[in-house]
Amino acid sequence: MRQKIDLEALCADRGLRITDQRRVIARVLSEADDHPDVERLHERASAIDPRISIATVYRTVRLFEEAGILDRHDFGDGRARYEAAPEAHHDHLIDVETGKVLEFVDPELEALQKLIAERLGYRLVDHRMELYGVALDRKD
Ligand SMILES: [Zn+2]
Repeated sequence: MRQKIDLEALCADRGLRITDQRRVIARVLSEADDHPDVERLHERASAIDPRISIATVYRTVRLFEEAGILDRHDFGDGRARYEAAPEAHHDHLIDVETGKVLEFVDPELEALQKLIAERLGYRLVDHRMELYGVALDRKD
């Protein structure tokens, strides 16, 4: 299970002004254990406060992203997906049929990527890994 990240507290740390609507969006993001897109975030946030518009959600995720407390992903379906920036790194496997996203960490893979960068003359500072797959036990 993913570690819950308190985005509201991180906002305060970064000196971001936190309005009521931003607080609701921060809370919805902190509680998400999937990787919601803006529309899904808007559904969840407006269920709590119906005054929250989709434009506000767009502005807020951009603000959080610029502050480095929210990660944006592109899982190949053309929609940006968001998750609170995790303290510990993980990678993703995307089920291309259902859109389900699995998180994983593999120490061998991490080490290999570091090695590849070094062979190319670089010190690795970040990476993104997305695997796309079809479930082996899929019923045809
Ligand atoms: Zn993730």
